[in-house]
Amino acid sequence: MADYTMNPPAPGWSLAFPQDMWDELADHVLTGPGGGGAVVLAGTSTGPRGQRLLARQLILAQDGIDYVPGTIGHHALSASFVRDAIVRARDEGLAYLAVHGHLGRDRVRFSPVDLTSHERGYPALQQISGQVVGGLVLAENAAAGDLWIPGQGREPLAEVVVVGGNLRRLRPEPAAASAADPLYDRQARVFGDRGQESLRHLTVAVVGLGGVGSILVEGLARLGVGHLVLIDDDTVDETNLPRLLAAEPTDIRAPKTELAERNARRANANIKVTAIPERVEQPRALRALEKSDWIFLAADGDAARYWVNAVVHQHLLPATQVGIKIRVDDAGVVGQIHTATRLITPSAGCLWCNGLVDPARLAVDMLPAQQRAAADYVPEVPAPSVITLNMLAAAEGLNHFALAVAGLHDDPTDQDSVLHRPRSRSRHLQSPRRDATCRWCSVSGMLGRGRLTG
Ligand SMILES: [Zn+2]
Ligand SMILES: [Zn+2]
Repeated sequence: MADYTMNPPAPGWSLAFPQDMWDELADHVLTGPGGGGAVVLAGTSTGPRGQRLLARQLILAQDGIDYVPGTIGHHALSASFVRDAIVRARDEGLAYLAVHGHLGRDRVRFSPVDLTSHERGYPALQQISGQVVGGLVLAENAAAGDLWIPGQGREPLAEVVVVGGNLRRLRPEPAAASAADPLYDRQARVFGDRGQESLRHLTVAVVGLGGVGSILVEGLARLGVGHLVLIDDDTVDETNLPRLLAAEPTDIRAPKTELAERNARRANANIKVTAIPERVEQPRALRALEKSDWIFLAADGDAARYWVNAVVHQHLLPATQVGIKIRVDDAGVVGQIHTATRLITPSAGCLWCNGLVDPARLAVDMLPAQQRAAADYVPEVPAPSVITLNMLAAAEGLNHFALAVAGLHDDPTDQDSVLHRPRSRSRHLQSPRRDATCRWCSVSGMLGRGRLTG
């Protein structure tokens, strides 16, 4: 059981952190007598419930040099440290947030001295950078922020979101517990009322609505997820029928989004569904992915992998990739079967630096439709596929998601992939690699850049 309260999503401004960056920051500002000071530089983006800040760079103040006793007792960041940080924020077009810690656990608020110093300092900093500036104060299990938005005045930060093995949310004080819908009574006994409430407030995208996606949609809708974004440009063909849940012969030639939406609504009468019968790289689909809380990737193509991976790291979102590989040689002899359920998060490497996007196949997959068909000169052999193998991989991903939302993973830093090999009845864990200079998952790359203007 998580040793902290899991808050449901809050509307308003949020600030997302990759797990490792959060751990480093919390350790720095909450340890030692006065704690330490730091600045977070953050990209910006639009989330499902408001604007999002995306922690991209951590600048830790060195105690006694950058973080010194101020004139009125409190420690403060030194003028030269602040100047260097705000110039970086200006040059890179990032938000600037000064961070310090207070004693305490579940509640935190700025002191009158903190607020006075914000009023004295932030208007000038905002003039320099032209971006959001503000302060963030942390306690062990709480966070509060005072944001100065260009042209819009001052806004409180509604929540900090830590994206790791658990999807943790911190507020100035714990959310009031409200009893879960009696419909979900049995489940709420596992996830807690707050966990069930969290599921109801989440927007979850499913990319690929074939055999695996069909099971994911059913599971997510029945878990009580409030909003599903369904993305697939394909239509149902006869050979899909055995693996698409509740599919009927009359569904042949219908868009897969249509069948998935019907199933989602049958499973959950109150669900909101956004059906996008397009390829994932279409602007409408990408925009919807950016505004999700979690993405499930159940499409085979390399373009889908490329784009979902990009959105995860650029917008600091968690995603789960679910896939099944069945080797059959030219003579029809079945080789190894494995299912893979991979967590893709901003602190656990990425599909790109783990060699899971094939650049040659990606190039073909990114071509316009007509050229793509022409480039696929090798006649396509239908991939073998079995509903029960799909279920194994999908269930692994769904369980991981639900436990993460409820904060029930024992170790939030554990972000290993799970591989099942049914022929040897074995289950393996695989730790993703992280390339320090990766164009997607590193600070020198797109990590936390958010929506780029222009
Ligand atoms: Zn303070
Ligand atoms: Zn990477």
